Amino acid sequence: MRIRRCTLHSISLPLREPMRTSYGIHRDKHAIVVVLETECGHTGVAECVAMMHPTYTEESVETAWHVSKDYLVPSLNGREFQSPTDIFDWFADMRNIRGHRMAKAGVEMALWDALAAETQTPLHELLGGQIRDVPVGISIGMADDAIALVNRARAACGEGYQRIKLKIAPNADFSPLNVVREAIGDVPLMADANSSYTLEDIAALKALDGLSLTMIEQPLAYDDIVDHAELQRRVQTPICLDESIRSVDDARRALTIGAAKVINLKPGRVGGFSESIRIHDTARSLGADLWCGGMYETGIGRLHNLALLSLPSFTLPTDNGPSHRYFVHDIVNPSIEFDKPGWLRVEPLCGVASRVNWVSLRECTNRTMMTQLHR
Ligand code: MG
Repeated sequence: MRIRRCTLHSISLPLREPMRTSYGIHRDKHAIVVVLETECGHTGVAECVAMMHPTYTEESVETAWHVSKDYLVPSLNGREFQSPTDIFDWFADMRNIRGHRMAKAGVEMALWDALAAETQTPLHELLGGQIRDVPVGISIGMADDAIALVNRARAACGEGYQRIKLKIAPNADFSPLNVVREAIGDVPLMADANSSYTLEDIAALKALDGLSLTMIEQPLAYDDIVDHAELQRRVQTPICLDESIRSVDDARRALTIGAAKVINLKPGRVGGFSESIRIHDTARSLGADLWCGGMYETGIGRLHNLALLSLPSFTLPTDNGPSHRYFVHDIVNPSIEFDKPGWLRVEPLCGVASRVNWVSLRECTNRTMMTQLHR
């Protein structure tokens, strides 16, 4: 398989509910959709999860656009992709471009998608997985009062969600978690701290030990591993690393020194499927639990995450919920919906491109860049 053309689409897709970040309120999901066309006329697609502002990692839509257009897409020129091994090799060669893993993931996952279409092999099979039912959890943002929070948690349980995740921060941790724990009984409950604590806060984090949380996600600095090991020694609740894990080497180091018992594996954050498979295998061999969080992906990214979730060691519920929770109109057709309440089923798709609603994609595109590649 050779790629003859690449089109980048910068999109903004209206969100069902506005998203609040430190940069204000966002009404649209911004992303780059990468479309690759092969010489035989097949199409691969993927979503780059870099956000508008560099608040989750250092990447943004603008940096990913630049790196994709000027480095990653030209690197496909004249290259042959016959099997997954060729994609692993391409990813290894991209080490000379430091970082920019979200940009790399956009192109890399589009290559897997194109290979699935070209070889008429279900994507999950190419990745080494199997059809399975995937439990889905929900992430609930901070609420103004306890009643609103409890109502949201109860409603989510009523819809079948298999785990509740609450965002926490110093001085807004034990009390909201405790009130929700009492309301939902023994439904799995976890906390995401998004790096808002330091080692000075160990007492506050230790106080959560009595709440039987599945995990506390990323309590300390976004780029730390060592302090998390100190914290994990002092608290019983399993620590989960999200932002800190960008590569299989990060995963190996973190699990070896006991910095975490769980990894939130987002393919967009680690450079795509090749590195995700390696992290999956490392987590399995070192006995860590694994789950796949979300980046507010459109249906394209969501279907790719679902394909990855076909691998056996994703033991905990995902945050990749159905389309209607995030978007009024998703850009895949049909949109992603529960197979049974709280569960999604891995779909045997020979590439996610087969599910893209191209009219909807064009409608939410505000910039495109087409590159013709040579033999
Ligand atoms: Mg997180």
